[in-house]
Amino acid sequence: MNETPIQIKFWGVRGSIPTPGPRTLRYGGNTPCIEVQFPGQPLVILDAGSGIRELGKALLQQPGPVQAYIFISHFHWDHIQGLPFFKPAFKEGNSFTIFGCDEPHMPLNEIISMQMKPTFFPLAIEDMKAEVKFHPIREETLELDGLRVITKFLNHPGYALGYRFEYQGKSFVYISDNEPYHGFQNRDMKDKPLSVEEEFETLIEDKDSALVEFIKDADLLIHDTQFFPEEYAEKVTWGHSPYNYTVDLAIRGQVRQLVLFHHDPDHSDEMVDRILELSRQYLKQHDFPIPCHAAQEGSVITL
Ligand SMILES: [Zn+2]
Repeated sequence: MNETPIQIKFWGVRGSIPTPGPRTLRYGGNTPCIEVQFPGQPLVILDAGSGIRELGKALLQQPGPVQAYIFISHFHWDHIQGLPFFKPAFKEGNSFTIFGCDEPHMPLNEIISMQMKPTFFPLAIEDMKAEVKFHPIREETLELDGLRVITKFLNHPGYALGYRFEYQGKSFVYISDNEPYHGFQNRDMKDKPLSVEEEFETLIEDKDSALVEFIKDADLLIHDTQFFPEEYAEKVTWGHSPYNYTVDLAIRGQVRQLVLFHHDPDHSDEMVDRILELSRQYLKQHDFPIPCHAAQEGSVITL
């Protein structure tokens, strides 16, 4: 057992766009950002949505320089829009390594720099006085001083990565934006003979199985849970999941704890409550009573 646990703090949990206002006060309106403290390791930051702004202010309250690895899942606005407002990046002596996937026609550093071109923002990436390094990644395994990071492409428009972290016998998986592979909806019909699409379906099944393998036995799964199933039916291909898929995935992966993440911008606190309640019921019905929470700004999980 670790003497000091891994600490995971949520600074932004909302999908797509920040949602301030009374309807979202409890769960919070900032877009994705999670702070992870592995004992004795540099700080890990998952995504740079608007939540990273408050995280930055908190980090500046602490003594000493800030050193962090920033893992970007993908480059949709809700995952990078906070970076220009991340004050520690503008302070000399701090150092950051930004991990993410190159796009086919644009490398990681250009993608990140682009949102700070003069048309979009008054300061340029060169104005960041901290040391900022870029580390392009694809599907791979990284070893960072005892911290193992495994990445996997997700089912989301563009090149979105999921991250699995393993440290001193503990593991957790961060899958911010992900949609069921098509096969999911027909899984219960597997006994029926396959149609002419057999080959395609087999490919889908392979991808689905690989995702289950990726999350297997994790101590914690943080996963996209943007929709009610009836909403998902209208939004197939948008790259997000209904709660029943997320819970089903957690069961198949035999994870030990589940956090519902990337709340829909149109969902009030009460609607997120409802998704949480239904998710817990689903777990119970499947005789898999692991702890399940809806991600909430400011909340902390220890592993
Ligand atoms: Zn997103």
